[in-house]
Amino acid sequence: MTGLEAVIFDVDGTLVDSERDGHRVAFNAAFEEAGLPDRWDVTTYGGLLSTAGGGKRLARWLERAGRPADEARELAAVLHERKTAIMRVLVEEGHIRARPGIHRLIDELDNHGVPMHVATTGTRAWVEPLLDRVFGDRFGVVVTGTEVPDLKPSPAVYLEVLHRLGTGPEGVVAVEDSANGVRAATAAGLVCVATYNTYTRDDDLSAATLVTPDAADPAFTAWFRDRLRATVRPA
Ligand SMILES: [Mg+2]
Repeated sequence: MTGLEAVIFDVDGTLVDSERDGHRVAFNAAFEEAGLPDRWDVTTYGGLLSTAGGGKRLARWLERAGRPADEARELAAVLHERKTAIMRVLVEEGHIRARPGIHRLIDELDNHGVPMHVATTGTRAWVEPLLDRVFGDRFGVVVTGTEVPDLKPSPAVYLEVLHRLGTGPEGVVAVEDSANGVRAATAAGLVCVATYNTYTRDDDLSAATLVTPDAADPAFTAWFRDRLRATVRPA
């Protein structure tokens, strides 16, 4: 068994449930502020996630509700700007928390001196305050969608992390939650372990080495412990 050189984390749905507890809540608050009756419950929002990009998601929703395309686009732009500001406030006020088992895993990796990094296609404007607020100064290289706009399943964001580390994928493990994320990580040559969530439980995660419901799962914990035991670090 090989040891762990480094671990690279996805953010959305892996470190935190930012879709369900963050973006969705912020969209609903923006609707409410604008005096609109629209609200997205957890299930409805899951269906809307097939449209990538918050602005497009809003425009599509408003159009489906019967607004002319131009009006839907304009209203979506206003709502989306407000939603992004609300999302930042949710992050800063601490409403978005780590998923189960994540804090423990990070502490354990830290105790063993395993470097941790982040590869996300989320926007730096909310990713950075989120990582600071929820995890403190734990991550070395953080590459976001602001620097690498190629969305997963493109491996671009993972390759950029490896490039900045000046290393290959050997011994580097990615933690992901979705089919696109697992495809991105494995296309970059990384071993990938996956924890699924409400929105990705039906995703095809079969390219992952291990799939569990969350990072608190005994199989997940055991997998990392085995690798940590095999990791010999210079004193
Ligand atoms: Mg994700």
